[in-house]
Amino acid sequence: MSDPLSTRISDKGDDLIALTQDLIRIPTLNPPGDHYATICDFLGKRLSPRFDCTLVRAKGTPGDSDRYPRWNIIARATGTRPGPCVHFNSHTDVVEVGKGWTRDPFGGELDGDRIYGRGACDMKGGLAASIIAAEAFLEQHPDFAGAIEISGTADEESGGYGGVAYLAEQGWFNPDRVQHVIIPEPLQKDRICLGHRGGWWAEIETKGEIAHGSMPFLGDCAVRHMGAVLQAFEDTLYPAMAARHTDMPVVPEGARSSTMNINAIHGGQAEFLPGDTSLPAHCVPDSCRITIDRRFLIEEPIAEVSAEVIALLDGLKSSRANFDYTITELNRVLPSMTDREAPIVTTVSQAIQDVLGQEATYVASPGSYDQKHIDRIGKLKNCIAYGPGVLELAHKPDEWIGVTDMLDSARVMGRTLESLLLP
Ligand SMILES: [Zn+2]
Repeated sequence: MSDPLSTRISDKGDDLIALTQDLIRIPTLNPPGDHYATICDFLGKRLSPRFDCTLVRAKGTPGDSDRYPRWNIIARATGTRPGPCVHFNSHTDVVEVGKGWTRDPFGGELDGDRIYGRGACDMKGGLAASIIAAEAFLEQHPDFAGAIEISGTADEESGGYGGVAYLAEQGWFNPDRVQHVIIPEPLQKDRICLGHRGGWWAEIETKGEIAHGSMPFLGDCAVRHMGAVLQAFEDTLYPAMAARHTDMPVVPEGARSSTMNINAIHGGQAEFLPGDTSLPAHCVPDSCRITIDRRFLIEEPIAEVSAEVIALLDGLKSSRANFDYTITELNRVLPSMTDREAPIVTTVSQAIQDVLGQEATYVASPGSYDQKHIDRIGKLKNCIAYGPGVLELAHKPDEWIGVTDMLDSARVMGRTLESLLLP
């Protein structure tokens, strides 16, 4: 593809590499939500020659404090004539490093076509690609219609409440001011992500009665009751979930069914801190808790998702002696799906065809991302995830992003801007 904008983007390859490295070198770890101010300042300096930049702190949202303020940036370049606004939204936070790295997680090392680092693919590479695409477009077409926005937002990895959710509540994603949204999450340069499954998180506690460990018959073991809950999940819930399949194009294939993870289990006395050499006291545990992470399909109403678990627990209450429980909902996220005929979908699909010479593939994400807030709070349906990178590398050791993939997806983004903002 050798149109002028594509050539201009190709010529910015070194700039794209340096920008991606600079972003990776700011360790925006979440939790705790570190260096949001640093990365917003960096983005503001980068974008302010061509964009009007606004910094927004999501005061009072979960985790926001003077030590870890939740800063967001929204940058807007306005055209010479009225027209739609195309918004690129990237989260700036990254997850913990974890074990198993052979590269410096915050070094931004370039090796061949790959740039390594925590957040390289999820999603500082996508952010960098969208910036290069927008800058090249503005140079190529100074006389454009409408507006381009680029936002860098906090806390996506912990639910987005200090980022996109807050901005949507404040009106930044109102359909009156933004018409098209692209979230450059790492879904691969030839795929359009239409949406994501839902999630329901809850804590279940089983109750018991404390007694001396040498005479457990004098008490009631909450851990054994929880064992019965887990067995009921194995016997009933997991087979039922596996039998359900969605029409959503979720990848990987295994996530096309309902799933549930048990995130945590704890019963009895508190775990010892490292270095504590005490011996355990001898007690029958009177409480056991698990946290469940139930991911559900667009075909499953949330009310049925929770009712199914509660019915199973109530069943144990009537069949098992002394069984008692409480269940507390921790969070819920509804599924989100953009229509295949939505303007942003058809435009990016055509851009993939034009730039890459291949048909776009449509996918949906097993886990949620910030589209849910743009959809539910912002009431803006015309939103997709599209960006470079391999989803399976996200949150893994030696995470990387391909330079060629970033350039290709920047070209698709640039072509999309031409389709939407040039009359
Ligand atoms: Zn992400």
